[in-house]
Amino acid sequence: MPKSYKCEQLETTLHFQPDKINFCCSNKYGLGINIKKNENIDKNELINTKKKYIKMLNKGIIPKECEGCTKLQKKSFKDFFKYSKLLINYIIIDHFKECDCDCIYCTQKIIYKGIKQKYQLLPFIKELYKQNIIDKKNLKVEFQGGNVSMLNEFDQLINEFQQNNCKIFFILMNGIKYLPILEKIKPNKDNTIAISLDCGTENTFKKIKKIDAFNETIENIKKLKNNTSLLISLKYIIINGINDNLDEVKSFLDIANNLKAAYIIFEIDFRDTMMNYKNEFKIPAHYYEIIEYVKNYCSKNSIKLFIPEYTNSVLKKGSNIL
Ligand code: SF4
Ligand code: SF4
Repeated sequence: MPKSYKCEQLETTLHFQPDKINFCCSNKYGLGINIKKNENIDKNELINTKKKYIKMLNKGIIPKECEGCTKLQKKSFKDFFKYSKLLINYIIIDHFKECDCDCIYCTQKIIYKGIKQKYQLLPFIKELYKQNIIDKKNLKVEFQGGNVSMLNEFDQLINEFQQNNCKIFFILMNGIKYLPILEKIKPNKDNTIAISLDCGTENTFKKIKKIDAFNETIENIKKLKNNTSLLISLKYIIINGINDNLDEVKSFLDIANNLKAAYIIFEIDFRDTMMNYKNEFKIPAHYYEIIEYVKNYCSKNSIKLFIPEYTNSVLKKGSNIL
């Protein structure tokens, strides 16, 4: 059998970015189509380009954007003749970068520097539903951004997806502003909001996010906990010299425990990982102690801990321990 590859994400994902639609969760350099200014998105171009890449993989040709990607799989004999239906079941909304804070680690500012949002998403989503391109039963929608409080279509998008029976939402946000629309999201065990708190004290919050809104954020998390059915997950991005000390981490963990967060996402500053993923990583030795502490704390207090794949791999690869 000749060599042949497949990628499930390529077949099922649309990742909306300010000037591009990608076919998987990869960043702006991944496979996709460009959106020119004020242009309506060409649905046919989108589908034909997706098909072109699926065919390339099928023939054993790996596009340079996919080289080394862990999601690439060899096609087995079983699925060799299977037809890819191109039914979208994973939508990532990342086409805006406006935010009401200014985190020092923000990759949106690096990746989309100087790039403006070139389209409104809602009309295109309606069109995809009309054309039956979305897998209504299994669709998962993830909001990245930017912060959703600054997305003018946020409420309408939530309504549109819910009207079309979408049940799974993952929403990344900073929690600085309370959003009543979140109360309308129907209960589902997988619906989650991930709030990037990154600290346990007012001062560090200000240093990281350059806004004085620690107490408001905590109050909003409490309100979300009481008024919505969403799982609350709190994020801590560890930043060299800013919040990489055990006292700060302990305060954060106590807050998460008191707020009964469903889980904690713990990761290393993106700028040292995603943006430099081919380099050697300088991991300060005390990061390992902090992560051990977080693991023990979560296990003792029955909080689920999620350490993303790239943080785990950076921790394993880190060679130049300071
Ligand atoms: S192989 Fe990787 S980079 Fe290529 S489309 Fe799939 S997920 Fe994206
Ligand atoms: S909350 Fe997110 S989008 Fe806003 S500045 Fe921080 S990292 Fe960037």
